[in-house]
Amino acid sequence: MDPVSLLREYIRIDTSNPPGDCRGTAELLCRVLIGNGLTPITFGEVPEKPNVLCHVGGTEEPGLVLIHHMDVVPAQAEEWSVPPFSAEVKDGYLYGRGTLDTKGLGVAHLCAAIDAARSGRLRRKLFFVANADEEVGGKEGAGYFVRNLPISFGRAYGMNEGGVGVRDIFGEGAFFLVNLWEKGPLWLTLSAGGRAGHGSRPSSGDAPARLSRAMARIAEHRDPARLTDPVREMMRTLFDQGLTNLDPDSLGGRPEDTARLEAFASSYPETDPLLRNTFAITTLAAGFKPNVIPGKAEGTLDCRILPGEDPEAVAARVQDMVRDLDVRVEIIFSEEPNGSPRGPLFTALSDAIRSVHPDAVVLPYMSTGFTDSRFFRSIGVDTYGLMPVLLPRSEFGRIHGVDERIPLSGIDEMVRIISALIERWNTEKDFSPFL
Ligand SMILES: [Zn+2]
Repeated sequence: MDPVSLLREYIRIDTSNPPGDCRGTAELLCRVLIGNGLTPITFGEVPEKPNVLCHVGGTEEPGLVLIHHMDVVPAQAEEWSVPPFSAEVKDGYLYGRGTLDTKGLGVAHLCAAIDAARSGRLRRKLFFVANADEEVGGKEGAGYFVRNLPISFGRAYGMNEGGVGVRDIFGEGAFFLVNLWEKGPLWLTLSAGGRAGHGSRPSSGDAPARLSRAMARIAEHRDPARLTDPVREMMRTLFDQGLTNLDPDSLGGRPEDTARLEAFASSYPETDPLLRNTFAITTLAAGFKPNVIPGKAEGTLDCRILPGEDPEAVAARVQDMVRDLDVRVEIIFSEEPNGSPRGPLFTALSDAIRSVHPDAVVLPYMSTGFTDSRFFRSIGVDTYGLMPVLLPRSEFGRIHGVDERIPLSGIDEMVRIISALIERWNTEKDFSPFL
């Protein structure tokens, strides 16, 4: 089976969410699995959002669950240099919405799983999972899936999206960021009400004026840097390998330690959001005419909070920041920060990565985004996130972006890394001390 042509076929089925119709992709994945002698099943809350589950083989535990999602974020075709669902190949890259998030990963899982089944050597249980609905929160996808599993995974670990390989991020070299933890999303509405009136007679108490002042405060606000355990682990790995010179274990709660942490964040800008809660202004809405003062103004914030923070408490702090302006803060959506401990899967994964990229540095990482991993973690499946493809640092921002693309060579490398992981997972003798 050629992973590149399979991925092209997968990309060409438009699963933009909303509406997130994944029937075509579930059919494609099932056709390939069945064609290779396997027995997938599909189930979902609504017919348009099926989830695919396939027990690939093996009987022993702990098992390994390979997870990805079939839906993608929408693409504005006019902004792209190629049509986003045409799966064009150009300059050594395959272009298309979903190549990185996460159809490319799904194809690597599928090809490696089928190879493993064919080998006849699977000892531990291996599952292939493809979910719908991830890009709008996963409630009807992985959320439904874990609550309605027709079988039990038993003791198992999961591999999902959330981390990636990036070149030259902490000095020269290949760095694979394995997502062990995720910050928690906290989405807030800020609203101000007031008197509607003529634009020729303004007052400082007008709703848009008060909301603007509130938003300006938030735009200028920065929470101080703070070290959490998942980030401490990443920094320790970097320090131990001589890549950075800040020993996280030398940091206590003294004011000069915060300054050293801030200096670290400015030397490695990618780590800045890993060290603090962030508050992004994402929408602003008020008014309908240049000469009319509207009676209502509203905006939203996308806050991402660190492990140890309580969403309600952070929302209350935002409310305190703008209370004197009579601006109301309400929670639209929130999830607790969540993660899995570093265990045997991390070691097996590091070995698998180094079998393809011998000099790679494999880092325990905390992702600023959130994924379906939280649903699997909630049923006791310790889940890590990694799409094992190595990208140039400049490509990091293309996930969800314009001209999303994957290096052609990376597709084959992913299959090799996942295959190596399955191999190690099966031959590793004893995982019991960690379970
Ligand atoms: Zn995704």
